[in-house]
Amino acid sequence: MPAAELRAALHEAADIVADYLEDIEGYAVFPPVSPGELTRRLDGPPPEEPEPLEDILRDVRAQVVPNVTHWQHPSYFAYFPASASGIGLLGEMVASGLNANAFLWRTSPVGAELEGITVDWLREGLGLPADFDGVFNDTASISSLAALAAARQHATGNASQAGLLASAPLRLYTSAEAHSSIERAAMILGIGREGVRKVAVDRDRAMDPIALGQAITEDRAAGWLPAGVVATIGTTSTTAVDPVAAIADVCAAEGLWLHVDAAYAGPTALIPAMRGHFAGWERADSIVINPHKWMFTPFDCSLLLTRRMSILREALSLVPEYLRTTDGKDTGRDYNEYIPQLGRRARGIKMWMQLRYFGLSGLRARLQEHLDLAAELAAAIDADPDFERLAAAPFGLVCFRWRPARLVGREGEAAVAAELDAANERLMNRLNETGRLFLSHTRVDGSFTLRIAIGNIRTERRHVEDAWRLVRELAAELDGADASGRR
Ligand code: PLP
Repeated sequence: MPAAELRAALHEAADIVADYLEDIEGYAVFPPVSPGELTRRLDGPPPEEPEPLEDILRDVRAQVVPNVTHWQHPSYFAYFPASASGIGLLGEMVASGLNANAFLWRTSPVGAELEGITVDWLREGLGLPADFDGVFNDTASISSLAALAAARQHATGNASQAGLLASAPLRLYTSAEAHSSIERAAMILGIGREGVRKVAVDRDRAMDPIALGQAITEDRAAGWLPAGVVATIGTTSTTAVDPVAAIADVCAAEGLWLHVDAAYAGPTALIPAMRGHFAGWERADSIVINPHKWMFTPFDCSLLLTRRMSILREALSLVPEYLRTTDGKDTGRDYNEYIPQLGRRARGIKMWMQLRYFGLSGLRARLQEHLDLAAELAAAIDADPDFERLAAAPFGLVCFRWRPARLVGREGEAAVAAELDAANERLMNRLNETGRLFLSHTRVDGSFTLRIAIGNIRTERRHVEDAWRLVRELAAELDGADASGRR
């Protein structure tokens, strides 16, 4: 593409993105399409001949832009937020233009060094001690996979060399509330799902450290080799917080690797007043935090911090001749030695731009706003006799269900419990069909539970108030329809 044409096309692409973000509230948050519909519209024989750029960009506007699920929409409340700031978009654009592949220092000196700088800026902002170092990965799943490869190495001393045949069967400990990526890491690392022991949780769905200690003792007696513990700060289902300090005590006594999954909630540690939830994480061997979830960094960016970079490297490094630097100079840090793959994006570029643009204070202010909005929503739910909250809301997620006042006290009856589950599922589907918001669900103690996760950089108070109003309106409508059905 000739330079002049590229420049004009980049401007056009910039307009597409800027128009999109300007008009975003006009889109149904979940696009009105059904599976296969887009394939029918867009598929055909492979393009044998080149097509004019203007046709391609026209189709991008007409077919691509409207048919994503609009994660950037301020009324996107599903799963966990993952929204991209304007400055992050610029960072992505620059990094894409440079096509920087930062696997060795020499394949992208500035990529490698900005990674070192921004990992340390984040570490300091999060209040963690200077002995934590780290690396950016694409996702928390890969950060945790790498951390648990290091835990495996730590437990066996030689798994990266000898595999697992030489050691007793390994055991990892976590709770049933842990993210599925932990069990998947165990599947990939040869530990297997049977090697993951789910430790009991208390009423707040937080891991019981006494049960953890007992499980380790039992397993040692039965011939297992305990390898590590994964504690979660902000579980995926309800944002429960494991007692990391007590778990760190167990790990210290047992000589086990402690990995803390704070993929979602971690950014809130930028706010000193939130650090109570993180007590003890400074004693972890490794920690994962996802800037692409609640730090407004465009997808993808996951931060793995560890106090044991050398073990991470032992677990994952393999330097073939063709990657060796032979000019005799200091080679700098070659980040591929700390991750499962070779090629990697230079995520330090966008992070450096973003941290400078917002400052830590700017990030804190935005996070605090989301925390306040979530607390206000939780209070509104608590004050409404037709709704009930099903979990504490320490971060930006509020878990609740519709429970018409007429059913209060009868939730334990099997027929009522089934009616409540069905009614809440219907309510969620009706809400999402409106296109005015998008939310997702979980089950809490078996009950169908609505989740509103606040953390999108574009979400304002009015969006949360509109969502809550709509929830109540549609619940009342459904209740009316149910009542007429019952008559
Ligand atoms: N850990 C927690 C606590 C999560 O909530 C999630 C995703 O929501 C993950 C890990 C996985 O994140 P990723 O999609 O970056 O692999």
